[in-house]
Amino acid sequence: MTETPNPLSGRCMCGAVTVTMTPAKPEIHACHCDMCRRWTGSVYLEIDAVPGSVKAEGPVKTFKSSDWAERANCGQCGSPLWFHLTAPGGNLHAVSAGLFDDAGGFPLAKEIYIDRKPNGFSFVGDHVRLTEEEFETVFTYPKDGGVQ
Ligand SMILES: [Zn+2]
Ligand SMILES: [Zn+2]
Repeated sequence: MTETPNPLSGRCMCGAVTVTMTPAKPEIHACHCDMCRRWTGSVYLEIDAVPGSVKAEGPVKTFKSSDWAERANCGQCGSPLWFHLTAPGGNLHAVSAGLFDDAGGFPLAKEIYIDRKPNGFSFVGDHVRLTEEEFETVFTYPKDGGVQ
């Protein structure tokens, strides 16, 4: 699976924002961190975009959620659109899987911050599950300027 998937086109709940992006991999990732849980109301399911491939039209509203990242929502209906790493050297652009029909048709390949997941639900299947500590050792936040 080294081939880049075809671009996806999706939209927010109200349809005011349309988003196109090219997935970096045909995969869905889940983040259970405290911020994603509160942002989405549950868990953030996202598809990583090829850097620079995310295009949006409509009333996008961005929010600087930390020193290193911003999150975008529809300015009209509030649907979460993407998480964007804005730190120098960071190019991660994680787009909400739910914007796309059938969430792109991709399988869930990874859950991160699994130790932060509420006990009341879990995803089935055989996929990568990383704790906060495990994730933060492979994914270095701007501490050293190097971001995957
Ligand atoms: Zn909307
Ligand atoms: Zn998160």
